[in-house]
Amino acid sequence: MPAFKVIVVGAGPVGLVAGHCLTHAGIEFEILERRDDFDLNAGASTALWPDNVRVLDQLGLLDEARTLRIPYHSKICIRSDGSQISRSRMLAAVEELHGHPWMLFHRGELVDLLRRRLPESSTRIHTGKVVQSIQTNDKGITVTCADDTTHTGSMILGVDGVNSTIRRLIASQPTVPAAQKPSNTTPRPPPMKSSYVGLYGHSAYIPGAMEEGCFYETHARDMTFQVGVAAPTDKCYFACFKRLPHPTTAQHTFTDSEKDAFAASLADVHATTSLTFRELYARAQWSHMAYIEEGVATSPWSSDRIVLAGDAAHKMTPNAGLGLNCGIQSVVVLVNQLRWLLVQKPDSEPGEEALMGVFRAYEAERRKPAAEMVKLSATAMRAPAWRNRVWRFVDQYVLPRIGGDMLVLRYVFAMVVREGVPLDFLEERAFKEGTNGVRVVLINEFTVTGVVPV
Ligand SMILES: Cc1cc2nc3c(=O)[nH]c(=O)nc-3n(C[C@H](O)[C@H](O)[C@H](O)COP(=O)(O)OP(=O)(O)OC[C@H]3O[C@@H](n4cnc5c(N)ncnc54)[C@H](O)[C@@H]3O)c2cc1C
Repeated sequence: MPAFKVIVVGAGPVGLVAGHCLTHAGIEFEILERRDDFDLNAGASTALWPDNVRVLDQLGLLDEARTLRIPYHSKICIRSDGSQISRSRMLAAVEELHGHPWMLFHRGELVDLLRRRLPESSTRIHTGKVVQSIQTNDKGITVTCADDTTHTGSMILGVDGVNSTIRRLIASQPTVPAAQKPSNTTPRPPPMKSSYVGLYGHSAYIPGAMEEGCFYETHARDMTFQVGVAAPTDKCYFACFKRLPHPTTAQHTFTDSEKDAFAASLADVHATTSLTFRELYARAQWSHMAYIEEGVATSPWSSDRIVLAGDAAHKMTPNAGLGLNCGIQSVVVLVNQLRWLLVQKPDSEPGEEALMGVFRAYEAERRKPAAEMVKLSATAMRAPAWRNRVWRFVDQYVLPRIGGDMLVLRYVFAMVVREGVPLDFLEERAFKEGTNGVRVVLINEFTVTGVVPV
């Protein structure tokens, strides 16, 4: 393998998964992260669907992930007064369909796993590095950070989140390989739009107020809650989403008093059958309020030696738990193709044209499924938030009678999961296909031989 090096910008979960994939692909990399430290208490819960559980297995992380997983079996949908709309064993059924379960984690614990288990993480992850500008030339790239340090490599993977600096740099000068520095005069790509605002976090577990292993979803006009109970970790995770009067592209950091006022406006809404949000929020151990952007970057995902993945490229509403899953899938596809390029010519570094070929092929493969996941996530947000009278009626009186959640799982989510792509150069030690079948990639010494549906 040539001395090819990827500069990964952003050590969010997608950037960390990219680090693991690159390690296994034998591709050198370093990760630059804006924050000074990892806040492992931060975040609500984060679920991985079975296609990405397969990736954890390939990366050798599955055994430990199993010890961190918060097991769920049932989903209970309620109204704002706590009365039950429906109950299903949807979450248990995921494992029957796909072999692997739906694995839900405290986000901080998942990030910690990814960070801790990354080989040579202390020399490969650099915190306190706010990437500000990039210079590209025939041989590679140089990244300059706010502290005036520079880092050189062969390409950049921009996984710096929804308000991505790297996306802005790509969009501002899509084809000119010259010094690129964001400034007030640099044209910006349109930021992604938010139609909802969210308050999410975790609270102390309240014995007796919730059923263990159950995931509650409150359905009400223009709002929806999700609450997961995690007795083994003494926590419960919550996320409340409310429709904004008007969609916005504003970027705003909500203050604690704005957050508390928002929580007060939802205080009487039930988060579980017997618990109001007031009682849950009063016990919050960490919470955060943010606009919930959605969309796929309209600008190209790559330019010169720079490419995007994760929320920087595609951002979705969280109800269906697909955002990180989509980001991992993008990284898997990108690393598969990058490794294939590098193993074909092991003695020479690929030029810019060859890299752009890989980036374009990657975008061509990922743009459509990412857009579909954005759409699916949008529906998963809007349907329980009763966007119109039809949804309000269907959700309360039709879907419960026909097993709506199970149907949506079997005929919508299962299709997405089934199409999931694993790394094409690593074995799956705990391979499972469930009743739904999975995509299988044949592996031999060097060669990707294609995707074979079972
Ligand atoms: C309440 C909630 C629940 C969710 N639940 C799920 C779920 O169950 N399943 C799921 O799949 N998804 C879920 N998501 C979505 C998921 O959290 C995101 O899709 C995921 O975090 C995206 O990861 P990322 O690494 O692309 O971006 P981020 O997590 O945003 O990380 C980007 C990183 O880049 C760093 N950075 C930014 N700018 C710079 C810079 N200039 N220089 C250096 N570093 C920089 C940031 O500090 C950050 O660490 C949920 C989201 C929310 C809000």
